[in-house]
Amino acid sequence: SSSTETIRATLFPGDGIGPEIAESVKQVFNAAEVPIEWEEHFVGDKVDPRTESFLTWESLESVRQNKVGLKGPMATPIGKGHRSLNLTLRKELGLYANVRPCYSLPGYKTRYDDVNLVTIRENTEGEYSGLEHQVVRGVVESLKIITRQASLRVAEYAFHYAKAHGRKRVSAIHKANIMRKTDGLFLKCCREVAEKYPEITYEEVIIDNCCMMLVKNPALFDVLVMPNLYGDIISDLCAGLVGGLGLTPSCNIGEGGIALAEAVHGSAPDIAGKNLANPTALLLSSVMMLRHLGLNDKAERIHDAIIKTIAEGKYRTVDLGGTSSTTDFTKAVRDNL
Ligand code: NAD
Repeated sequence: SSSTETIRATLFPGDGIGPEIAESVKQVFNAAEVPIEWEEHFVGDKVDPRTESFLTWESLESVRQNKVGLKGPMATPIGKGHRSLNLTLRKELGLYANVRPCYSLPGYKTRYDDVNLVTIRENTEGEYSGLEHQVVRGVVESLKIITRQASLRVAEYAFHYAKAHGRKRVSAIHKANIMRKTDGLFLKCCREVAEKYPEITYEEVIIDNCCMMLVKNPALFDVLVMPNLYGDIISDLCAGLVGGLGLTPSCNIGEGGIALAEAVHGSAPDIAGKNLANPTALLLSSVMMLRHLGLNDKAERIHDAIIKTIAEGKYRTVDLGGTSSTTDFTKAVRDNL
């Protein structure tokens, strides 16, 4: 877009290394003249009774109104009487899909150099519905909830994403041979949506076979869509294929078109405040946010500068085997814009 209008976006710097890597994003956006005005929100030090969380109602409203945001890692404080921060965001903003592109970064050697896939995880139900109880002593039960509504919604998003990003194939990952009813319904919904997208190849892959194929030849996959638990595990597996936590971006898609991008790693308390954090994952997450907004020129420019910096190898953070600080790496990205 060549429009000069500024877009408001919510920024949660988060905890631990969060503020350091959020600062990196702000600096790169400034240098690239991205027309974003950040509305910064911080995790509070007392529980807001309206949200039962350290996140305030105002913070949630900010995302609801802007419909777009970037989030650093959040460490949920220990204690009773409040909900986990990430759970609060997921529930209150109806974040139903988690999208993670995993692709080999040129110049950063891992076991494979041709990975280019996207995992799309259903994020609200399945095995993570939080319905666990004891039946009698020594016997516990956990309910896996699969609904037609949530399955159709995530399948729709997966096909929409595939089409919008020029991808050719969607694989639904399941265990419907054993989980006949739950995964069976999930697959049925995927098939229904697939029929509306004849230009995209649809296939179904059993989760165990999927794992073997991913570690043997990840280039076989394009877009993968799956229920919550499988998505949690497979998306981390895929992040590992391309170099790990410091590099992997993600974006959460929510009700009413909300997009909340976030790095997949945590607050890294062991290196917080030491200017050692790798800002790449959050920077690439911010690129996903820009693409979501249709600011593709800015997204490409920033993306290319990050890739170039890593490929050159001169400035790499410690987690990637280098000696650069967060600020050195950030400066190098700015210089490569
Ligand atoms: P972590 O991801 O914070 O750290 C794991 C290891 O990876 C550490 O050695 C850390 O130094 C390293 N690491 C992570 N990100 C890095 C980066 N950008 N650059 C360089 N090194 C990096 O996982 P953890 O230690 O299990 O969790 C710490 C805290 O983060 C916990 O409170 C946890 O609840 C929280 N957490 C939050 C999120 C989130 O907000 N989405 C996700 C995971 C964990």
